[in-house]
Amino acid sequence: MAKIPIMLQLNGNWDNFGRFREFEVDGIVVDDDASYSLLISTIAHQLMIDTSEKIIEIKYIVNEHCPPMEIRNDMSVRVYMETKKENKNLGSYPLCITVRDFNMELSITNENTVAGSSGILKLLDMPISPVIEEYEIMIITDSTPSSIEVGQVYQDKETIATAMKHYSVMHKFQFRVKRSSARSYWLICVSENCTWHFKATSINDSAMFKVRNFDNQHTCSLMDNTSIQRKPTAMVVGSMVIPKYSDPKTIYTPKDIQLDMLSEHDVNLTYMQAWRAKEKALQFLRGYPVDSYNKLPSYLYILEKTYLGSVVRLKKTEDDCFLYVFVVICTSISGWEYCRPVVVVDGTFLKSSYRRIMLIASTMDAAGTILPLAYAVIDSENDALWK
Ligand SMILES: [Zn+2]
Repeated sequence: MAKIPIMLQLNGNWDNFGRFREFEVDGIVVDDDASYSLLISTIAHQLMIDTSEKIIEIKYIVNEHCPPMEIRNDMSVRVYMETKKENKNLGSYPLCITVRDFNMELSITNENTVAGSSGILKLLDMPISPVIEEYEIMIITDSTPSSIEVGQVYQDKETIATAMKHYSVMHKFQFRVKRSSARSYWLICVSENCTWHFKATSINDSAMFKVRNFDNQHTCSLMDNTSIQRKPTAMVVGSMVIPKYSDPKTIYTPKDIQLDMLSEHDVNLTYMQAWRAKEKALQFLRGYPVDSYNKLPSYLYILEKTYLGSVVRLKKTEDDCFLYVFVVICTSISGWEYCRPVVVVDGTFLKSSYRRIMLIASTMDAAGTILPLAYAVIDSENDALWK
């Protein structure tokens, strides 16, 4: 067994002459007897690509007269390694890596199937109304069903894809997408010689997908499977822990996620995986901070229109980015008259990706109740005047 150093070329594009252009470089070392799944996981690890959400396409150029060769299974890895062994230096036969979204893959395959002959499928699955009525009764809309069986009908491909991701996390193995198009969804185990497979296809060209074939017995040892560590995705675990974050007062740390996943589902997560799951869950709930900042101008506009007499100021930088915001609601202004003439100002830092400081001014009324007067978000606590 020999170690083979391989140069990776990424983020480039293919020109019309079959050349890979404008790429960045990286490198990996793999054993010459590596399997396809090991090669994929080594590349994914080095380039930090989440293979449960992205598809990695590997090509290399043999010579200028031949279109690029694609590495797509164990045999093509072996062909590559034999070629590479002849010429072991780092620069020879670099692997050109293209990463695509799973969804993008869908639309591409989709186009292909539309262009190709799709008539056969239609003939096989002629719509007959009683059958459709039957489906209506038991269409699965839940992406975490208690079991997945042949014959089940899911409302769409996304639901079944999410259900299978969930299934793989719960059963502690990893699958590979063998084929995915608008009409079919075909999965196999990452272990090359395993007979585990799953196949679902659309019904009568509708959005609904029916499970046609599902052999859930692994002939591989699941041990090799887990050593590849294509981690249970943050997406799946994240979606499972969303309810924990719906109340902002609940403290639920990545450590808690680790413990609960282990005790409830017997799934072992590293701290980083749990942390990513938490970030995903929060993102599902709150969206991206940048979108929230974008909503600020319209929010302030409505605030001013609704509470007449309020004072609202938004200051932006010259290139239209958020700088400061200052808000006093009209009720605070009218309430001030009846309060003790003491203003207390305090600040706290904001923890989102944009940091900054939030200031709040408040006072106390005759009964000793706190009345908030104004709040502001600024860059830092200082004496600079706001012009
Ligand atoms: Zn297997």
